[in-house]
Amino acid sequence: MTEEAREETVETPGEDNANTIVSYKNVKKAFGDTVVLNDLNLNVNQGEKVALIGPSGSGKTTIIRMLMTLEQPTEGTIEVDGEMLWHKEVKGEFVPADEKHLRKVRGSIGMVFQQYNLFPHMTIMRNCTEAPVHVLGVDKNEAKARAQEMLDKVGLGDKVDQYPAQLSGGQQQRVAIARSLVMQPKVMLFDEVTAALDPELVGEVLEVLKDIASEGDTTMMIITHEMEFARDVADHVLFLDNGKIAEQGHPRNVLENPQSERLQSFLGRFI
Ligand code: ADP
Repeated sequence: MTEEAREETVETPGEDNANTIVSYKNVKKAFGDTVVLNDLNLNVNQGEKVALIGPSGSGKTTIIRMLMTLEQPTEGTIEVDGEMLWHKEVKGEFVPADEKHLRKVRGSIGMVFQQYNLFPHMTIMRNCTEAPVHVLGVDKNEAKARAQEMLDKVGLGDKVDQYPAQLSGGQQQRVAIARSLVMQPKVMLFDEVTAALDPELVGEVLEVLKDIASEGDTTMMIITHEMEFARDVADHVLFLDNGKIAEQGHPRNVLENPQSERLQSFLGRFI
């Protein structure tokens, strides 16, 4: 493909539009003197699946940890579904957000980590109903019905009375995904959810993610080192390098026609 042709097909981060659900504007993040993200601008639309790829230490986890309010940007703003993360509007002025506001914004985001951390002394069902009942105040029976639906979706509807230790790592991670979906988040974040699994268990978890993605309405930001999965599942791929989005666009462009030497060499590791 010529440079010009490529220019036309590569999506650039869109302007804010009615479908934008996550928006980072001029975000910088430093830990002490070390700048780990520099002038990040990113819009994610409702229902979009964004894959974040890049070498270790490039800033991928920091991007999604900030969305989960686990880290505060050093500069710039982040909005989720029209709400600023660290500020709230009071009589036309932005003031630092209190814990109540942060809890509310956090409630619209679900995150699944590498370590699934289920409660070992609770059944699979209770692992999935604990937070909706005690954090969101959802009626117990309603929470159970939602949990059953999500456990069915991840193929574990018959394991509700078992305990985490009775399940394989892949099954436990699928429970963690179901547990997150029960909270009905607007945005789902996945941070290398297969990285801690034995290789033979990776496929079943990726299949579950693909199923969720194919249903269309869940907005997903996915950090992954599984390039084939990224190509299959993502609408948009971001290549992070040294705290910046170095290349981005449709998976076909980014993964199959990388422009920079950095991305070519990064992808070369997965062949
Ligand atoms: P990635 O997910 O791409 O591997 P991270 O976002 O985890 O990258 O990390 C980006 C950089 O930020 C790394 O150099 C990492 O060491 C640094 N970093 C992350 N968290 C902290 C922290 N709490 N304190 C200091 N440095 C950190």
